[in-house]
Amino acid sequence: MEIFEIELESFLKTILPIPELYEFLLIAQNLSKKRSEFLYFAGGVVRDYLLKTLYKKKIEKPKDLDLVLQGNLKNFLEELLKKVKGEILFESQFLTYKVKIYLNGKEFLIDFITARKEIYEGIAKLPKVFPSDFKDDILRRDFTINTLIIGLSPPYKGILIDLINGKKDLERGLIKPLHLNSFVDDPTRIFRGIRYKVRFGFKFAEEFFLALEKCFKKEALKKLSATRIANELRLYLNKEPEEKLKELLETTFYLNIFEEAGIKAKKENFNSVNELLSELKDELNIKEREKFFLLGLLNSQFLEQALRLGFTEFELKEIKKNINFIKKYLKYWEKMSLWEKIKIFEKIPPFYLLALAIYFPEIKEEVIKYFKEYRKIKSELTGNDLKNLGIKKGKEIGKILDLLRRKRIEGKIKTKEEEKNLIIQFLLKKSEN
Ligand code: ATP
Repeated sequence: MEIFEIELESFLKTILPIPELYEFLLIAQNLSKKRSEFLYFAGGVVRDYLLKTLYKKKIEKPKDLDLVLQGNLKNFLEELLKKVKGEILFESQFLTYKVKIYLNGKEFLIDFITARKEIYEGIAKLPKVFPSDFKDDILRRDFTINTLIIGLSPPYKGILIDLINGKKDLERGLIKPLHLNSFVDDPTRIFRGIRYKVRFGFKFAEEFFLALEKCFKKEALKKLSATRIANELRLYLNKEPEEKLKELLETTFYLNIFEEAGIKAKKENFNSVNELLSELKDELNIKEREKFFLLGLLNSQFLEQALRLGFTEFELKEIKKNINFIKKYLKYWEKMSLWEKIKIFEKIPPFYLLALAIYFPEIKEEVIKYFKEYRKIKSELTGNDLKNLGIKKGKEIGKILDLLRRKRIEGKIKTKEEEKNLIIQFLLKKSEN
């Protein structure tokens, strides 16, 4: 075990997302000292601090803080929350607590974790956890670069502890698991490792490939639940920089992870998925983005595998139904009018429609335009305006609004006046019939 003294104050000031938290940490520090329980920072916050200060890498401030206590965390938090305004939001089965703190009228979330030992009893199953000391807590971690800790309270206040050469691997830019069974125990670590490699531009250590080989041999990825696979892939989308998405997917593909997890991903789709996600960033909500992203990865010949990505049987049926629906029209696609196409698009929920744009590239450009433009075009006159003009029947109002929208999309009318003229013509024609 190597130890290094660091400037605690400078560390805190560098990592804290907001200066107010400094006061809070001093209170937590004093309490842990009084209780003789070691409190320390672990994980990303320490890794990123070193990358930033020692290796001058450009790193964003951490979004979440992981504070670990070697001791009775529940008790500790109860005492802490008598001194600071806040509440425990969530307690997990892994002895971790999400805590909300109120400081100067603002709210902050902090993850408190019990120093623990993990025991893996089944391949790719969640571990059993037991409170333990900081050494066991270091040894349960995913990669050496994430094993560094910085003490906030005695006996290692202001000390960086490097139990297993994490600092050297950080320096060399190596993604190295702690032991060769690491991915058999928890295959989600493979996806985590890919994220770190791509995010920091690091390399996989030889041990990464050896651990991967062991994982493949034991078919551990096949045993990983669909929910956990989908969660890991969602992090590619939600936690990593947008411009890295393609590299994340390609790295996953070339390491054969999709195949081993029972997912037939199609490499040729990655570009289009990426393109659509960035083109339509402002057009989709987060759920739609996630679902489209996952569906878009699949080879449309093997859609059953959507089940391995957390889709339900019902959703799978819907995907197939929509594929069959659009297929009926594809033969005539060239000859169809824009309006006819829009009417088809409107019948398909957004994330399915986007997936169709991946599976059938001939509709891609029109789908993009549909989301960015056509979907938003509406007549200026509203249903109420039409009522005021003396049109009473709901069905007729719907028909006229549709007509106005169509003419606007086709570029045939542009103003409210033109809309009114069109309505007059429509009504005249109707009375003639
Ligand atoms: P970032 O938030 O920048 O992605 P992080 O390292 O803080 O990085 P978290 O997911 O917040 O990532 O995890 C915190 C720490 O918990 C990690 O640094 C790692 O040491 C440990 N950890 C998380 N998931 C696992 C896992 N599946 N197996 C082992 N250790 C893990």
